[in-house]
Amino acid sequence: MTDRPMGFDTLAIHAGAAPDPATGARQVPIYQTTAYVFRDADHAAKLFNLQEVGWIYSRLTNPTVSALANRVTALEGGAGGIACSSGHAAQIMALFPLMGPGKNIVASSRLYGGTITQFSQTIKRFGWSAKFVDTDDLGAVSKAVDKNTRAIFCETIANPGGYVTDIPALAKIADRKGIPLIVDNTTATPWLCKPIEMGATLVVHSATKYLTGNGTVTGGIVVDSGKFDWSQNDKFPSLSQPEPAYHGLTFHAALGPMAYTFHSIAVGLRDLGMTMNPQGAHYTLMGIETLGLRMERHVENARKVAEWLEKDPRVDYVTYAGLKSSPYQKRAKKIVPKGAGALFTFALKGGYDACVKLIDNVKLFSHVANLGDTRSLIIHSASTTHRQLSEAQQVAAGASPNVVRLSIGIENVEDIIADLDQAMTKALA
Ligand SMILES: *Cc1c(COP(=O)(O)O)cnc(C)c1O
Repeated sequence: MTDRPMGFDTLAIHAGAAPDPATGARQVPIYQTTAYVFRDADHAAKLFNLQEVGWIYSRLTNPTVSALANRVTALEGGAGGIACSSGHAAQIMALFPLMGPGKNIVASSRLYGGTITQFSQTIKRFGWSAKFVDTDDLGAVSKAVDKNTRAIFCETIANPGGYVTDIPALAKIADRKGIPLIVDNTTATPWLCKPIEMGATLVVHSATKYLTGNGTVTGGIVVDSGKFDWSQNDKFPSLSQPEPAYHGLTFHAALGPMAYTFHSIAVGLRDLGMTMNPQGAHYTLMGIETLGLRMERHVENARKVAEWLEKDPRVDYVTYAGLKSSPYQKRAKKIVPKGAGALFTFALKGGYDACVKLIDNVKLFSHVANLGDTRSLIIHSASTTHRQLSEAQQVAAGASPNVVRLSIGIENVEDIIADLDQAMTKALA
């Protein structure tokens, strides 16, 4: 390989992997093993001391899983990455080195429904909390950050409404406050947006979605930029001070830009156990090989479907940020210049009942609680993914009762449009 920086599609196929040293296998093997034989007692001691990098036990690291973490790290332009058992696991893992009882995060009010539930309810059991703010109101974001705030959390393109976040503006606030910005880049993928280049410290993914791409795996990834100075203040003692959970190792002093990644493996994965399995990692690696090709088609199809819907008299409005009519069009050009993703909602005249009928009459679209599949998917968020939220939270999240969410696949776009057309006719008959 040459020294010049490689392009996205090349990295998507090659990063994090080399021919298998034992067999020469060209594809990344599925290392279906729990443990690894140490060379001798000294080797084992060095591994446990983090003096030498190697394999100990697959709850911590596994060659197939590490290939995946390293590939996504390369695509995001980070220093290190951790593969986890799901996107939600990745979110807890991302917060774990930063948080403690009484600490909080400031989170966008426009997030994946499950994340709003995780942040507003479940993390309270750890003594953590979240303050939800409209991230378009930068003054409100700044004001919400208090002395116990340990991160700002947002999504690049917020599901389901197709809202685009001003990542550089939030990164500036986070910087000023001495805390990291965490960006969930699931719906954009690094092909559309690289949050680290825009100032984010940490990127999280649900690998379940576009990274794998075909609805076969549940997984998550955390990528650390390696750029945050954990010792600039006393907010992050797990990284900047001796860590009692790892025989007093001071991770930042010992490991520099890899401090966060090593802490996440040596303490996070060790004790929380939210590890990805090697078979799942293998499927996701296969998916990522075609990420660029797929995303190109996803956004092209999404734009065409959104434009068609917007012109249709049966439709009240379409929330695709790639449309000229979108209030986020200008921002989308800056944050996701290659396309505003493939996920958006539209409001059908006829409200809740018509939405439900539409969903019962689609044939090509699949009615599932998922997104980022090669197949086109449809769901009525208010009665499903966002059901646990109050109506006010639903509206704030872009999941009003009269809207249907589409995840546009990579089929022929004429077939996608024809299916929506016939289902809309039946829904409004
Ligand atoms: C799906 C999703 C998650 C949760 O990921 P899982 O893999 O389902 O746990 C988090 N954020 C976003 C934006 C998602 O789409």
